[in-house]
Amino acid sequence: MQTPQKIAVVGSGLVGTLLAIYLKKLGHTVHVYDRSSDIRTITFSGRSINLVMSNRGWKAMQDVGLEDEIRKIGIPVDKRAIHTQEDTLQYQYYGKEGESIFSLSRGLLNKRMIDLAEEAGVDFFFNSKIWDVTLADATLHIGETERGQWEDVKYDKVFGADGAFSRIRHRMQRQSMFDYSQEFMKIGYKELHIPANEDGTHKIDKNSLHIWPRGNFMLMALSNLDGTFTCTLFMPFEGENSFDQLKDESSLVAFFAKYFPDTKAVIPDLVKDFFKNPTSYLAIMKCYPWTYEDKVALIGDSAHAIVPFYGHGMNAGFEDISILSEMIDKYGDDWKMIFSEYEKSRKPNADAITELSRRNFIEMSSKTADEKFLLQKKIEKWFSDHHPDKWMPLYSRVTFSLQPYSEALAIGDFQNKIMEEVMQLENIEEKWNSEEVENLILSKLKTIV
Ligand SMILES: Cc1cc2nc3c(=O)[nH]c(=O)nc-3n(C[C@H](O)[C@H](O)[C@H](O)COP(=O)(O)OP(=O)(O)OC[C@H]3O[C@@H](n4cnc5c(N)ncnc54)[C@H](O)[C@@H]3O)c2cc1C
Repeated sequence: MQTPQKIAVVGSGLVGTLLAIYLKKLGHTVHVYDRSSDIRTITFSGRSINLVMSNRGWKAMQDVGLEDEIRKIGIPVDKRAIHTQEDTLQYQYYGKEGESIFSLSRGLLNKRMIDLAEEAGVDFFFNSKIWDVTLADATLHIGETERGQWEDVKYDKVFGADGAFSRIRHRMQRQSMFDYSQEFMKIGYKELHIPANEDGTHKIDKNSLHIWPRGNFMLMALSNLDGTFTCTLFMPFEGENSFDQLKDESSLVAFFAKYFPDTKAVIPDLVKDFFKNPTSYLAIMKCYPWTYEDKVALIGDSAHAIVPFYGHGMNAGFEDISILSEMIDKYGDDWKMIFSEYEKSRKPNADAITELSRRNFIEMSSKTADEKFLLQKKIEKWFSDHHPDKWMPLYSRVTFSLQPYSEALAIGDFQNKIMEEVMQLENIEEKWNSEEVENLILSKLKTIV
């Protein structure tokens, strides 16, 4: 048990709220500040923005006893449904039978977690903008405007869970030896909507993550509990097949008719939604160190903002909490050690999921429709079914296991090298499940184990 402390968490997003529950359960006084209004009091337009939770996220939920509660508001998704331009549909299972990721409404999840945090005894302060923090004594500076009057509130510790554009990180950036990088993607995204059928059922399979892969752009759809789907169109801002080219109704309708013909029947408000919804940016942010002595720590997107193509930003943020909790168990009241070991352990893994996520855009937008890639995946699955102790596909390592991301990336790269050789074999299409292929993979695997 730790000595109780007075702790502030800046940000009542998914990571900040879960962290607050953890800390409260350890016996600390926990105050959560957010510049926005209480999400539970905001009436949504009825549209839901969703995300997927996988094993790393569930592990963190389980540790504070929230797993069962949250599973009730999720939809299991066990496969990709690939919509080809020729109007065919192919299913690609993510893992073994029974393995699924879960589609969850971000708003519903966040609301439920704030409820549960309050029940646990966490205090929330909404509409409270944090403008600065004094690192040396963990004092927050709170006020209406940046140049107005600020209230100073001192804590024992401050956690910056204030997202990709963190003010807490902003202060840490002004320390010497603090590394920081920010990279905006050339690809942006826009949300569209598939409504429910009149009887509330889903118009397309709700247990699939639907992808329309088209090379340098793609459309994706994930189901919501109310029968709707949230669709996300990812494409470049400029150039061929870009947002820049879809400036009016006729070019938009022609573009969708050409590239996503089967969406005509299910996205009735395409034109209205497309021109009403913003085109959003994607950015990668990296920094180090993540902590200041035993006073201040970054967690979640404030420490590592990544692109969403592996569906892991929140999962990685939740895993930060699991690792922090491991360090708390190990080092008790020695917060200097806790912070130092937490950042050392997490940084290589945050960098690895950043890289994996960046690469996954190419897999989702191009390779999922590529015959050779699909054959490679089929061989990997076949080999893995025969030798489960010797081969776990990269996606499963990242999504269905708790293996550190950096190890998953390294092993994935090694496996990929083996598969490159396998794919070079003459007539691989015919002998993909032969003894020759099996022996080749086994012999190559011996080079690391
Ligand atoms: C299109 C898209 C799809 C995604 N899909 C997935 C997915 O499928 N699976 C997944 O795991 N992840 C996904 N992510 C990533 C995920 O959304 C983020 O990683 C996650 O929400 C980060 O949570 P957070 O709590 O760290 O930050 P945030 O959710 O950004 O929360 C930060 C909070 O801090 C508050 N705040 C900020 N500044 C201040 C301030 N100065 N004072 C007070 N409060 C402040 C904000 O109001 C906010 O409430 C996706 C992201 C995008 C963009």
